Amino acid sequence: MIYAGVDVGGMSIKCCLATKEGEILVKDSFKTKEGITCVEMAEQISSFLKELAARIGVSFDEVASIGIGTPGTVDGKKGVIVYSNNIKLERAPIVADMKKFVSCPVFVENDANAAALGEVLFGAAKGAENALLITLGTGVGTGIIANGKMITGKGGAGAEGGHMRLKLGGEPCSCGNKGCYEAYASATALLRQTARVAARRPDSLLAKMWQEKGPSGIVPFDAAKAGDKAGVKVIRDYVNYVAQGLASLVNVFRPDVVLIGGGISNQGDYFIKKVSRRMNALLYGAGVNPRTKVKAAGLLNDAGLYGALALALQGERA
Ligand SMILES: [Zn+2]
Repeated sequence: MIYAGVDVGGMSIKCCLATKEGEILVKDSFKTKEGITCVEMAEQISSFLKELAARIGVSFDEVASIGIGTPGTVDGKKGVIVYSNNIKLERAPIVADMKKFVSCPVFVENDANAAALGEVLFGAAKGAENALLITLGTGVGTGIIANGKMITGKGGAGAEGGHMRLKLGGEPCSCGNKGCYEAYASATALLRQTARVAARRPDSLLAKMWQEKGPSGIVPFDAAKAGDKAGVKVIRDYVNYVAQGLASLVNVFRPDVVLIGGGISNQGDYFIKKVSRRMNALLYGAGVNPRTKVKAAGLLNDAGLYGALALALQGERA
């Protein structure tokens, strides 16, 4: 048997067919058009998957199940995309619509939650019973695996760690609230923090680099590595923000491992070790309870696809 993974993005939809062990046999993507309806999307996904099966010479009947990861609020139990601002769908019955074109089981979940499951099945958290995946990008995405299962919450609206409060009355967040974790720990927030410090310290190397190469999240890291005080300050504060939020999340369910994904994780050990040290110092019972491992996420650009595959596999097993 083979399994299908579908990663729905704002611009394109990535699809793959893979073995139970997560070996991808074929993958490709197609562009989505704006204003696509749910049933049109289901039709396009189904025919694209059938085309992929034909490409590798297998019958589509061999596909045991299909997993779909998509941004936004997803009610996996009902098989409905409740709300997504990226793909402009509301209350979209994606599983029921897929069933008009395929006969195997179809599972759908939020992509960040699915990516966490993918890391546990195939990636850097392989074998972990409890894991937290945090993605530092335009926003802050969190996927939580507890006792081997995704935490999705009522109506699929849970596991939004990016919108827990870090500071009362703090920075405005894209969600409409103030002081959310995302408003301090996202890559967008790092740019804002860098711009402020660069403006305050116009003679610093940070300010010079910001003017030449900014806006880029690499600038404060490069300035800090070169020993520039302003750069060091930006990174120290940013690491502290990231670690404070992580410590709160870790205190809730003590994962075996915390994985950091998104563009900033490209900074590798330089960043991950600092976050790990600070976060572990902040945890409840620090120094007595065992430390919590912090690592870079493992699946990188294919995290969404592996997440979708994990949905197909776990859904079929349930
Ligand atoms: Zn928010």
